[in-house]
Amino acid sequence: MQSELVIYNTLSRKKEEFKPVNPPFVGMYVCGPTVYNDVHIGNCRTFISFDIIYRYITHLGYKVRYVRNITDVGHLENDADQGEDKIAKKAKLENLEPMEIVQKYTNGFHDVMKDFNNLPPSIEPTATAHLLEQIETTQQIIDNGFAYESNGSVYFDVKKFAETNSYGELSGRKIDELLSATRENLDGQEDKRSSLDFALWKQASPEHIMQWNSPWGKGFPGWHLECSVMSTKYLGEQFDIHGGGMDLKFPHHECEVAQNKAANGKEPVKYWMHANMLTLNGEKMSKSTGKFFLPSQLFSGESELLDKAYSPMTVRFFMMQCHYRSTLDFSNEALQAAEKGYKRVLIALNQLNEIKVAEKSDVDVADLNKRCYAAMNDDFNTPMVVAVLFDAVKEINLLKAGTKAISQSDLESLKKLFNDFLFDIMGLKLESADENDGLSKGLMDVILELRKDAKENKNYAMSDKIRDTLKDLKITVKDTKDGAEWNYEN
Ligand code: AMP
Ligand code: ZN
Repeated sequence: MQSELVIYNTLSRKKEEFKPVNPPFVGMYVCGPTVYNDVHIGNCRTFISFDIIYRYITHLGYKVRYVRNITDVGHLENDADQGEDKIAKKAKLENLEPMEIVQKYTNGFHDVMKDFNNLPPSIEPTATAHLLEQIETTQQIIDNGFAYESNGSVYFDVKKFAETNSYGELSGRKIDELLSATRENLDGQEDKRSSLDFALWKQASPEHIMQWNSPWGKGFPGWHLECSVMSTKYLGEQFDIHGGGMDLKFPHHECEVAQNKAANGKEPVKYWMHANMLTLNGEKMSKSTGKFFLPSQLFSGESELLDKAYSPMTVRFFMMQCHYRSTLDFSNEALQAAEKGYKRVLIALNQLNEIKVAEKSDVDVADLNKRCYAAMNDDFNTPMVVAVLFDAVKEINLLKAGTKAISQSDLESLKKLFNDFLFDIMGLKLESADENDGLSKGLMDVILELRKDAKENKNYAMSDKIRDTLKDLKITVKDTKDGAEWNYEN
């Protein structure tokens, strides 16, 4: 399997040729949601970014095993192993079993992923279903000398690990700087030898509702551990791609690398990939600051910050117009521009069915195709693909106007280009409103026929009334030598 794909690797901080460990197989792990509340549109951006990466690598012919976990235990409110478990806290608040909370928000997450047309992963493991493996790995790390037990909890010994390994390589942090930043403040964390140490296993207090037996007493696993354990179990000790949002780089991913190396001595991941944040007025969308939108709010328009409702595909198209490694700021203007842009592409696509073919062709479809592949091969540059598709739309308009001609085989290739890049790779689809276009077209044929009859009968009042009513509906009618043509405004 050969491709010209290059991927920006967070670990090496440069773009690297994509060479899987064991081609044609590709292992890809993406940190999934902690299912204690509804995902917001920022979370969705990360999952959409990795959906496109999954789709494109699959399109290239690789056999991808895509693992995206569900965190259903161990994610505490505070990254420094403090605070309540997010799921247990919500369960108390809603007076439900923790697993009811998990099920409720997992279902909601799946619904939203479907709304956005994200493909399901090949495996979606949960942390609570892998407690045995997490206990085993914790024991392995203790046996290898990189973790210690303290009052029923087990902590990863970062300083000890750093004596023989690099710690902080992925996130670009230096252990001395980290130490001086925390000033070794162990307030409330007296069990630890150092403030940099993190929990592999946490002792549960009697009132803690999620707890399991372990060699160290009753407790629950640390959040970072599940991803090390489940990625190793399903993808092997060394696999190709590990992804997540930029905010997970430290401490989550840094701790994952340390755990894997401490357990089996191997660098686990070949390409670390981080998707950048969706922001609102320049600030990261986040539940904790209250600055976020839920997908349901966007789809219904129910928020004072929204001018109107936006469909899932409008939102997806909006996201495609930004590279996954750049921050993307949410705005009504940008979403409305995306809505118009996507509509333009769909209208052009519809018009492709009406184009008459010629002997010769003056549309360079091969070049458009080459440019789309070049864009995707350059670290999944979707905004560049969108720009090429808009160039293709211009060509379609010229074909429609009769200024340019296209052969049968080029026309087929042009249709395939849209199918491949717009639908298969960028994962857009027709929504019910777009699917209605067939119906709209049929109705418009009838209306324009009636208008033609009215004109022929010199009933100009009627023909004008039809045109003006359509204009109110934002449909323009133009009389050409081949008869009346209609289009949506813009
Ligand atoms: P969480 O459930 O908080 O672990 O987040 C799930 C995923 O969403 C992680 O990969 C986060 O990095 C990502 N994420 C959280 N906030 C944002 C945001 N504002 N923009 C993009 N991704 C985000
Ligand atoms: Zn993770």
